[in-house]
Amino acid sequence: MELIRVADVQKKYKTGTVALYDVDLSIAKGEFVFLIGPSGSGKSTLIKMLYREEKPDKGSIIIGGINVSKLKDRKVYLLRRKLGVVFQDFKLLPKLTVYENVAFAMEVLAYDKNTVHKRVMEVLELVGLKNKVRQYPDQLSGGEQQRVVIARAIVKNPNIVIADEPTGNLDSKNSLEIMNIIKAISKEKLVILVTHEV
Ligand code: ADP
Repeated sequence: MELIRVADVQKKYKTGTVALYDVDLSIAKGEFVFLIGPSGSGKSTLIKMLYREEKPDKGSIIIGGINVSKLKDRKVYLLRRKLGVVFQDFKLLPKLTVYENVAFAMEVLAYDKNTVHKRVMEVLELVGLKNKVRQYPDQLSGGEQQRVVIARAIVKNPNIVIADEPTGNLDSKNSLEIMNIIKAISKEKLVILVTHEV
């Protein structure tokens, strides 16, 4: 089943830089996709268009039946439900604990407390951080922080997980751990892994 279809997409920034030209992609459920290219080749631009932080100038992007390029701003949340994004620069909320950072992403108001607790603990166990729920981001190593980001990205159970250079700032041991977690996630979800390394 096709989950992502990118057709004839172009993106030119205001500065005049053409970041993407004539991009076509079709990605099906069950795939594990590597998006590889040197710095500046447009990987981040493509990812930003998938979760509608940027819009293409031309072409179409369809994700799980949603026409992303035509989606109204007030409907963007429908798309974001389908996508979990893991950024390289962690962007955790510093004043919230590990538990709270993940629960916050679940949009706690929409669920009862028990459902939130169960799901948050489930994903924190998956990333091996069940014993650090009460710690704050600055009390964690880089690898642990990145694992919180992964937990946050999957807590709403999206179909698609996009990881933008998730090991970029990590040493080889932590990178390996993160890759193993991502591999485990890819058994259930479509994963797109962005990297400049081969
Ligand atoms: P990558 O993720 O592969 O490093 P990017 O998508 O970040 O590539 O960048 C592709 C090209 O677009 C680069 O030439 C970059 O300088 C340019 N670019 C990226 N973001 C912007 C922006 N907001 N404004 C202008 N140019 C940009």
